[in-house]
Amino acid sequence: MGDSGLLLVLSGPSGVGKGTVCKALRERMPNLVYSVSATTRAPRAGEVEGVNYFFKTKAEFEEMIRQDELLEWAEYVGNYYGTPRKFVEETLASGRDVILEIEVQGALQVKKKFPQGIFLFLAPPDLTELQNRIVGRGTESEETIRHRMEVAKSEIELMDHYDYVVVNDVIDCACERIQAIITAEHLKKERQIHKFRKWLKEVN
Ligand code: ADP
Ligand code: 5GP
Repeated sequence: MGDSGLLLVLSGPSGVGKGTVCKALRERMPNLVYSVSATTRAPRAGEVEGVNYFFKTKAEFEEMIRQDELLEWAEYVGNYYGTPRKFVEETLASGRDVILEIEVQGALQVKKKFPQGIFLFLAPPDLTELQNRIVGRGTESEETIRHRMEVAKSEIELMDHYDYVVVNDVIDCACERIQAIITAEHLKKERQIHKFRKWLKEVN
């Protein structure tokens, strides 16, 4: 554990507010590094290449898979999504915390490769509110909304694989809960003990 940064994985059903909470969290915690994913999904209005996603063609994405450039990847509602590996590994090695905002299948792959990661499930207050948020965002067709709601139900069933469940009722409250988790994780004995052992060696 020692000096490397924390790998935080934030999942939860589409529309629960992952993007919104991550944005608010980044304003509160400027040192937290956000991993930008690659996707074959078309950009939404206002989304910027390299900021929201690296937008790829299917062929480009499949080449990234072949070259083992992705830490994890998944197909979600008809598109590919994946986390560029090198950026995450280098940032963690430099001692900074990284947050991945990814869906459940990808999170489970990360858990196999990085069992020391911290897995956070962002949950809606209830399913009606979840649907209201997806509809309210106004970015999806009726059919995609139905599909995303079906996937959401199966994702909620996988909550048991996570370390923490954070309900996103009020954005600020959800952020405070996540900040509390990050603080507590940094204070874990395993992350601190080596420093004290080093001091003791120096005085002996
Ligand atoms: P996700 O990234 O999980 O798909 P978004 O961050 O795009 O979800 O949020 C979906 C919609 O819900 C957006 O319109 C957003 O403004 C709204 N939203 C997010 N969090 C909350 C909240 N705590 N209360 C009310 N609306 C919210
Ligand atoms: P959206 O199309 O709404 O931006 O994202 C759809 C879903 O894909 C969301 O649950 C989002 O968290 C997830 N996602 C975004 N990037 C990645 C990624 O790199 N890997 C995986 N597995 N899921 C991702």
